[in-house]
Amino acid sequence: MTERTLAIIKPDAVARRLTGTIIQRIEEAQFQIRAMRRVELTRKQAEGFYAVHRERPFFASLTSFMSSGPAIVMVLESADAIKKWRMLMGATDPAKADAGTLRKEFAESIERNATHGSDAPDTAAYEIGYFFPGIDLV
Ligand code: GDP
Repeated sequence: MTERTLAIIKPDAVARRLTGTIIQRIEEAQFQIRAMRRVELTRKQAEGFYAVHRERPFFASLTSFMSSGPAIVMVLESADAIKKWRMLMGATDPAKADAGTLRKEFAESIERNATHGSDAPDTAAYEIGYFFPGIDLV
């Protein structure tokens, strides 16, 4: 089933000039990039995006990091896009990520972990609307 997911190249990876490398990996994996923007999140926007984590001990640190510099947000489309993008990213903690995954190769820590991907169809719909409201994704 063709599906869409929200992907982010996080501020750590953008700062380290890994945007092009990560986009190349996305295209090699046969995703269609349906939409793409460079964003600089405010603290409030980062808190809104990660609202489900507001009770977690790392919430303040995570939202500070996510608003610390530019990020790239994208809508990726493919068969089974949500799972497929999470497989390409690898585990949240790079120490636990499989060889060949983006987080294994590029993450600096469990927090500064290079990329984000939606984890289910309902969160994908929410997250795509968060960054691309009202846009017809051609
Ligand atoms: P994801 O779906 O793999 O991104 O992981 P989660 O939804 O569990 O967490 C969201 C984001 O919060 C992760 O991508 C990390 O940037 C950060 N994060 C998750 N767990 C931790 C943690 O234990 N400590 C810190 N500092 N950050 C974390």
